[in-house]
Amino acid sequence: MRLGSIEAGGTKFILAITDEHYRILKRQRVATTKPNETLEACVSFFKKNPVDALGIGSFGPADIKVDSPTYGQILNTPKAGWSHTDVVQMLRAALKIPITFTTDVNASAYGEYMIGQGQAVRSLVYFTIGTGIGGVIQDNHFIGGMSHLEMGHTMVIPISGDNFKGVCPYHQNRCFEGMASGPAIEARTGKPGEQLKRTNEVFKLISYYIAQLVFDAYLNFMPERIVIGGSVVSETELPVIRRDVEQLNNNYVELPNLDHLIVLTGIANNGSATIGNVALAKNLIF
Ligand code: ZN
Repeated sequence: MRLGSIEAGGTKFILAITDEHYRILKRQRVATTKPNETLEACVSFFKKNPVDALGIGSFGPADIKVDSPTYGQILNTPKAGWSHTDVVQMLRAALKIPITFTTDVNASAYGEYMIGQGQAVRSLVYFTIGTGIGGVIQDNHFIGGMSHLEMGHTMVIPISGDNFKGVCPYHQNRCFEGMASGPAIEARTGKPGEQLKRTNEVFKLISYYIAQLVFDAYLNFMPERIVIGGSVVSETELPVIRRDVEQLNNNYVELPNLDHLIVLTGIANNGSATIGNVALAKNLIF
């Protein structure tokens, strides 16, 4: 059996093929240009490398409700030309195989749930701090009914002395994305997070906002594990985040061992989304 994955991102699409044990056999990167060009490159890759089912984890906003008339489409996006692109319809017509469609972050959450940090648990929250959004899984199902979750825009309390105005056009300095997402870090420092020294003061601020996000997610979902992905948070920040969560809780709920609750992604090379996509695709044929 061969399974396919498309990680559909705003700047690149990562295409991959695995066997039924999720071993990656082939990988290719395609630039995100015009929808037709990019999707045709996907079709030609999977025609050369046929798969039995395909999982897509997409940038958003995207319609991931299976029973919706616009399921599989990119919704209104600032990304030029991509609004209302019917990704699933186009690929299904060309490849004639079963296809699943969810968000990139749900795909990563599912990858972690299947073979990463979520293997031993039944409930998991996944955050990717680059864009700040999250996904929640309980007993093999994604939480959410109307649409995908938007936890990145949940409210944060600015730390005293942090006068940053926030980059969220909707909530300014009142939501997580506004204060601590990838674009917020770049606006604060003039550099992307990956290029900054770990000693940069900005990481202390970011860690505090992540702690708020994590604490709220814990109160809301009581998950057994909270996985932080993306390239912003490293092992250096984890102890700070755990300490801040403890302070925010202020001995209210009894917290589990935070070293086990709050962890980094367990799948190497940003591979969580690929594994999640192919695992979701495999569900279609079993
Ligand atoms: Zn916002």
